[in-house]
Amino acid sequence: MNFVPSRASAIENLNKFVENNLSDYSRLRNFDFGPKNRSNISCLSPYITHGIISELELIKKSLSKFSFLKNEKFIQEVLWRTYWKGWLELRPNVWTDYLNELKKIREDFKDNANYKNAIEGKTDIECFNQWVKELKENNYLHNHARMWFASIWIFTLDLPWQLGAEVFMKHLYDGDAAANTLGWRWVAGIQTQGKNYLASEWNIKKFTNNRFSNIKLNENAPSKISSKTYAASKLEFNNPQNFKEKNLLIFDNSLSFEISDFNNLKFKKIFLISNKNENRIIKLSEKLIKFKSKLIEDQKKRLEEKSINSEIIDLSEIQNINESSYGLYPTVGENLDFININDLKIEFLYRKLDQFSWQYCNKGFFNFKNYIPKIITTFN
Ligand SMILES: Cc1cc2nc3c(=O)[nH]c(=O)nc-3n(C[C@H](O)[C@H](O)[C@H](O)COP(=O)(O)OP(=O)(O)OC[C@H]3O[C@@H](n4cnc5c(N)ncnc54)[C@H](O)[C@@H]3O)c2cc1C
Repeated sequence: MNFVPSRASAIENLNKFVENNLSDYSRLRNFDFGPKNRSNISCLSPYITHGIISELELIKKSLSKFSFLKNEKFIQEVLWRTYWKGWLELRPNVWTDYLNELKKIREDFKDNANYKNAIEGKTDIECFNQWVKELKENNYLHNHARMWFASIWIFTLDLPWQLGAEVFMKHLYDGDAAANTLGWRWVAGIQTQGKNYLASEWNIKKFTNNRFSNIKLNENAPSKISSKTYAASKLEFNNPQNFKEKNLLIFDNSLSFEISDFNNLKFKKIFLISNKNENRIIKLSEKLIKFKSKLIEDQKKRLEEKSINSEIIDLSEIQNINESSYGLYPTVGENLDFININDLKIEFLYRKLDQFSWQYCNKGFFNFKNYIPKIITTFN
């Protein structure tokens, strides 16, 4: 698998996927045929997470090929992401609590042999070891493999979900505070309280096309329990009424200014913000840092082609320019944490899709799903 860090590649992959594989997506999407055969899914998440292409571009492209009914599953999956993002935006403490728990658990487990074997892919479970290798080599795992991985980590290897979520964030090219934290919480059974996801031998065999054998798992573990509950807050995501000509800060979740809702506004200068490991609690792998840097450079190149004045700066440097800048909203995660901890006064610009969809993220996904046709008609 090779994720070329450019918008041109993202668009090419999207076009190929829609043309050749979208028709079979709902039938084949759950199969993990291995890293050499990924055509049954889009593999676009590393690009979407960085805003290289948008959810709406995917949806529009899919609807240019097939009807809504035929595309329903694909559109639902794309909007799962929007739902998770909105769910966390309404409950940002879930992320803060996660990081605080992680710091403590890291200490408790730093010499734990079971943990070390797991992160080095040296357990007795062959498929799990294979996925650890794949995660580090390809920086991507199939959705079903992520579910199996997390379930084995929590219920068979008996390790805290917080550490597993950290391993994913460290390596996944699509690592995202919302999709990842909530994905792990969901497997553990604390996102939908009492409903854990248990990986099983038959399911792994069937959906990996019998690529693995000897899969002895704990298939009957009870759900994890968390005493914490999080009520949805009534946060507002409003854009400024009167735009002034200021700078614009772009973080690593919005790296396609030219397709953003704000591409018609005039900014003094665009600053592309690079967040290396100095300001992160979860330290990213070198490959992932490099991937992000290349995506930022690719955005800079595209801005230059349009004669838009831009500069790449480090996150720590925004302390000097924050009051004279708008920022494309970075969403809950380590960039926003830096801004909040340093009390920086950046006026955020919110995407229309997020402003519209996040109001429906106060309950579960099944409730959110009812609003999908409304979201589609509003934006298509
Ligand atoms: C434990 C766990 C951790 C995860 N961590 C992340 C993460 O850090 N970042 C991330 O983007 N996704 C995460 N996911 C969700 C999902 O696994 C990936 O989005 C998906 O595998 C990406 O592959 P794809 O682009 O080929 O997806 P496709 O099947 O082609 O789907 C198209 C797009 O829809 C979105 N999508 C699909 N499934 C999901 C889902 N279950 N949740 C949210 N969005 C979805 C993605 O943006 C994806 O690119 C996680 C899932 C689990 C179970």
